Amino acid sequence: MNRVLTEISTTLSRAGIESPRLEAKRILSFVCNKDENEIALMDDKLSPKEAKKIAAIITQRLAHKPLDKILGTKGFYKYDFVVNEDVLSPRPDTEVLVEEALKLLPQEQKVKIIDFGTGSGCILLSLLAERKNAYGQGIDISSKALLVAKKNADILELSNRVKWINSDWFDEKLSELLDSPVDMIVSNPPYIPTQDITSLEDDVKNYDPMSALDGGKDGLYHYRQLASITPPLLQTGGHILLEVGINQAQAVAEIFEQAGLNLVKIVADLGQIERCVILKK
Ligand code: GLN
Repeated sequence: MNRVLTEISTTLSRAGIESPRLEAKRILSFVCNKDENEIALMDDKLSPKEAKKIAAIITQRLAHKPLDKILGTKGFYKYDFVVNEDVLSPRPDTEVLVEEALKLLPQEQKVKIIDFGTGSGCILLSLLAERKNAYGQGIDISSKALLVAKKNADILELSNRVKWINSDWFDEKLSELLDSPVDMIVSNPPYIPTQDITSLEDDVKNYDPMSALDGGKDGLYHYRQLASITPPLLQTGGHILLEVGINQAQAVAEIFEQAGLNLVKIVADLGQIERCVILKK
């Protein structure tokens, strides 16, 4: 498929798409239902149906719809997750939170985990997939997001170890619905300061739900909310792991320290940005 691959890649590149060759490979692999490594070995024949599908994908991509949302799937950590416009597309930056969480979760022991603002479920489900004795509770204010999370749990065969809760974080009934105290709380809350949203790339601001991005005036609104409700939900010795935006780590650490938790560490992502704040009760 080298000729077709180059054609698609050139079209994407001319439209200013950042990784044209990688995306071209992903498109061909999706449409031809073949592993990405096999694509280069196939000859350049496409059925009319395949050609039509590819053209439709390219049209949407040229309109800057993210490829994940066109194909309806995104690889995160070790797994593929269903995504749509009701959820934030999982970012590679968030994988550092999963890796750090796994270092703190014993292999055999029974553990309980809560994920605030679970979205596609990518963080919680990755943890449950890696720890056979872990039990998860994923909370989201968006019932549409939870439909996606449920689908992902079914695909990964984890539905029997997870409960999805459609609730506002501040709902009085939430604590009654939760099985707590838990060993770990994780969250990738909305953290973009409201005034920065207009300068986000079109791919992000037009296709990720605003409710998953907007962190209020200084981007820290949801951390303050979490700091006021999470400490009583944690077991003594339990951890909370929070994804944070650029330059937010220190402020977020302080917010949670004031709520009585102890800072364990701040971990940078692959781009050397302080991305994950870890505290302990
Ligand atoms: N990391 C996302 C972005 O930069 C934002 C995710 C979030 O607000 N939690 O677009």
